[in-house]
Amino acid sequence: MAKVLIETYGCTLNQADSEIMESVLSRDGHDVVMGRYDDSVTYDYVIVNTCTVKNPTEQKILDRLTGMNKLGSRLIVTGCMASANSDKISSRVHNPSIVTTANVHRIADAVNDIATGKRAVYDSYARTDKAFYLNPTDSVIAKIPVSEGCLSSCSFCETKFARGPLNSFSENLILKAIETAVRNGAREIELTSQDMGAYGLDRKTNIAELVSAALDIEGSFKIRIGMLNPEHLPRYIDRLIDVYRSANVYKFIHLPVQSGSNKVLQDMNRGYSAEEFRLMTKELRRRVDDISIATDMIVGFPTETEDDFAESMRLISETGLSRINISKFGARPHAKASRMKQLRNEVIKDRSTRMYRLARQVETEALTKVLGKRRRVLLTEIKGASMLARDDSYREIAVSGSDLKLGESMDVDIYDNTSVCLLARPAEIAMLNR
Ligand code: SF4
Repeated sequence: MAKVLIETYGCTLNQADSEIMESVLSRDGHDVVMGRYDDSVTYDYVIVNTCTVKNPTEQKILDRLTGMNKLGSRLIVTGCMASANSDKISSRVHNPSIVTTANVHRIADAVNDIATGKRAVYDSYARTDKAFYLNPTDSVIAKIPVSEGCLSSCSFCETKFARGPLNSFSENLILKAIETAVRNGAREIELTSQDMGAYGLDRKTNIAELVSAALDIEGSFKIRIGMLNPEHLPRYIDRLIDVYRSANVYKFIHLPVQSGSNKVLQDMNRGYSAEEFRLMTKELRRRVDDISIATDMIVGFPTETEDDFAESMRLISETGLSRINISKFGARPHAKASRMKQLRNEVIKDRSTRMYRLARQVETEALTKVLGKRRRVLLTEIKGASMLARDDSYREIAVSGSDLKLGESMDVDIYDNTSVCLLARPAEIAMLNR
């Protein structure tokens, strides 16, 4: 039995991959720790599950890896950087073992190879139904990956090169994993993937059908549907709206629009127009009561003019969004947009500052709509002295009070807000009667 540390970076899908590696290694009898490497503690193997979505994150990870050089092949680098940019890893670390995203379920084989003195390299691509390896543990929030890869080829994206073509996991194994998670005490099921919108399109099904099937599972839980490329939504929007009406699905949708300008959306190869995005959000708002809509915006895409930027600002202020995640454009090695003429950093920085200011204003307006209201919430995480809870619209609510229990539902009175979340006190504690 070996002592193994897993250090994880990146999105919920990457975190779910780390949980797959943890369960595969534990099943093989290894002692697995999830955390950050500290060289004062001795590990037999250190796994760093990397992310390659943005330059700053990648640099930070490469600096960390450089500090782990003395581990040699006992350092196993996995994740999107191992899949898309392993040359960068080899330029910083001597002789690391490499396990790409498509091979995380073979992590125990990699450890066995290294134990016999071999350097482990698992980088072949094979469609694997990773849902087979899911073994949700007893936590209130269960992250359930449903697919990896996607059907799009956005010109700014590096993840596409890490995760490859769409690979949707089988519905019955996903449902089995959700059942196990609920049996083990999960109250919030976070369905995750690279593009939830493409789920099942390679298996003649889709995300609305999957969630609808999950609603037949016995137990008391709430489903959060992950990020969904707007390009696919029109295929099943009516069915998805039906599903959103269930009390067991958070009224929350994350639809990354990326720009408000049609010209830029075309240059990004996104597959929808700003008008179509506006129509989708209007339809969702009209038919799903109190739905929270989150989006992502890229600022400073190479072909973005000041007029294009103004269209993005207009879209933000006119579509009543509740969360706007802003990224400054950064050229990525394999992405087509890296070969376009880049904007000057000062221009990107200036636009990002202006958009940041508007986005915080719009978010605060959305938050303050429920000030003074009573809300039923689910307590999902401990955050400092208070508990983090979510209401039906997945709003983030910090609840202060004694006797608060993770996983319980209760009514709270919302008395104030910060720029990112609401503040509340218990009204009463009651179990969610299904
Ligand atoms: S949908 Fe676009 S941005 Fe998302 S992973 Fe695929 S190519 Fe990248």
